[in-house]
Amino acid sequence: MNSEHLRYDTILTHAGRAPAQHSGAVNTPVYRASTILFPDLAALEAKEGTKLRYGRRGTPTTHALEDAICALEMADKALVTPSGVNAISVVLMAFAEPGAHFLMTDSAYGPARKFCELMLRKFGVETTYYDPAIGAEIESLIRPETKLIWMESPGSQTFEVQDVTAICTVAQRRAIPTAIDNTWSGGYFCQPLTQGVDISVQAGTKYISGHSDLMLGSIACRDAQYDRLRDTYLRFGVCVGGDDAFLAMRGLRTMAVRMAHHHTSGLKVANWLLQQEEVLRVMHPGLPGDPGHDLWKQHFSGASGLFGFVMRSVDRAALGRMFDGLTLFGMGSSWGGFESLLVPSNPSVYRSATTWTPGGQTVRIHVGLEDPDDLIAELRRGFDRLRE
Ligand SMILES: *Cc1c(COP(=O)(O)O)cnc(C)c1O
Repeated sequence: MNSEHLRYDTILTHAGRAPAQHSGAVNTPVYRASTILFPDLAALEAKEGTKLRYGRRGTPTTHALEDAICALEMADKALVTPSGVNAISVVLMAFAEPGAHFLMTDSAYGPARKFCELMLRKFGVETTYYDPAIGAEIESLIRPETKLIWMESPGSQTFEVQDVTAICTVAQRRAIPTAIDNTWSGGYFCQPLTQGVDISVQAGTKYISGHSDLMLGSIACRDAQYDRLRDTYLRFGVCVGGDDAFLAMRGLRTMAVRMAHHHTSGLKVANWLLQQEEVLRVMHPGLPGDPGHDLWKQHFSGASGLFGFVMRSVDRAALGRMFDGLTLFGMGSSWGGFESLLVPSNPSVYRSATTWTPGGQTVRIHVGLEDPDDLIAELRRGFDRLRE
């Protein structure tokens, strides 16, 4: 597809599709393959150079998904993994070597930090966690052996927006590769590679899937990083099944309309929460009063449905009355599906470079595709039960 003059949403509906190659079917079909047969000896001998040679190395279905992810993230190349955590661990592993030093934001997703502490440390990689608000000051933490700078913006649980441009300017001057967890934006509201980041990772489990029925991860990068990442990926034997790749592409086709709804409804619910006496603070970078709002305006074209708020201190019994009566909001891990979620959280336990003292009970909310007025009514009833 020649996409030079097309707008982003148009590209997303067409990327990774080639109906003429699949009997006219609109969607790339599910290929289930391990063995790929070659027609003659010469073709078999030349297989090293071919894209299709063995199921673990990709099928037309997974290649189509990689093409679509490239369009979504405005990347040169992409790899897909069976989970978001797998995408994170492949990237971290690709830059690991004995004596290496990594810099990781203190607001990073818990399992990313755990991979550094419980896995990479064993192989002699040391990770320093930094204040997510560090910006250009990151330079003072760089050592001769620093091999990777890891960002996440906004941060998991606490939603601080990082000054990605300032960090990348320093990293480029010092020739240190940068990677970011871009799950919050779905890749739809932010394309970090256009802002100087080298590698953008996502849990496709969240907004790419969009339906809470799929585990998937993606790694999007510039050409310069691809060989190193793909090498690690192949060594670990990472691959994604055809059904999962198909579901991911199906989700991706409706991202534009879903994300617009998450943006509008999320802000509506966030603004309502701001006015409630039970709520001390709302952590949503799309709100003008949020500390990350100016950076968010620079780096994002919208907000997803995930944010947090801090309630006044409540005892366990009152919290139980509020949460146990919920009918529209589900309680459970993950987010990015069509449905809303509400879970108490405790971000303080993930920190080491900074402290996080909210002054009350933190709650994480995912605003799904329901009518936001129904969600607000349910939250109002929840606060009523809290006060009983
Ligand atoms: C959920 C999540 C992941 C991990 O994704 P899985 O598919 O569950 O492994 C990574 N980063 C962030 C920010 C997430 O929210």
